[in-house]
Amino acid sequence: MTRDEITALIGARGAEAEELRREADEIRRRGVGDVVHVRGIIEFSNYCRCHCAYCGLRHDNAGLERYRLEPPEIVDTAGFIASLGFGTVVLQSGEDMWWTAQRLAGVISDIKAATGMAVTLSVGERDAADYRLWRDAGADRYLLRHETADPELYARMHPQASLENRVRCLENLMELGYQVGTGCIVGLPGQSAESLAEDLLFMQRLNIHMGGPGPLIPHPDTPLGSEPAGAVETVLNMMALVRLLRAPT
Ligand code: SF4
Repeated sequence: MTRDEITALIGARGAEAEELRREADEIRRRGVGDVVHVRGIIEFSNYCRCHCAYCGLRHDNAGLERYRLEPPEIVDTAGFIASLGFGTVVLQSGEDMWWTAQRLAGVISDIKAATGMAVTLSVGERDAADYRLWRDAGADRYLLRHETADPELYARMHPQASLENRVRCLENLMELGYQVGTGCIVGLPGQSAESLAEDLLFMQRLNIHMGGPGPLIPHPDTPLGSEPAGAVETVLNMMALVRLLRAPT
């Protein structure tokens, strides 16, 4: 599929959109069948050093009550999740530097020893050495959305961060053998269909294992608080295109 074809399909509506999603759903059915995998997720800290313009957890949001679970609380909660029959636990937080690589590695290895569950991490950008330590401790998967592959838009949405470093993190994770999930936000101010097409091609180029487009949901205490939400129709087309572009040929 060419870049122009992808760009046109992102804006599809009516019968054209239905056909696009039907094709994608067939790929989904062939690939994974009619099952839903349910994960247990522990949001263990909402402290964050970053300034992402769309996120209510951003460092600059002084009105937010912050919390942080202690390591034993996380391991106990993971044990509870395992006792309910879940096969995967997701450990998610803001970019909270109280959590040194060593501290989180201890939690990962304790959860693995106690439950044997797959461990997915979603804790943001870190050095390759940190990712390696966590992989060695038993982490299986990593979620790190790229948010937008458009460098100019990325810079506007992420003061003090760079798309270059985001990509480097994703490449490091892939090299270390994690199953990697990424994804983009649909509906950022100034975002074009061409920019969204680049998000899809970026995920294809990186050969990531999971791609999750999602809508902008404006948070009132952020700079994007008065922006309109991302269009659900566009998100559904993006999800369909992720499946079509990732389908085995
Ligand atoms: S790094 Fe994550 S938690 Fe922190 S501000 Fe950005 S999106 Fe929010």
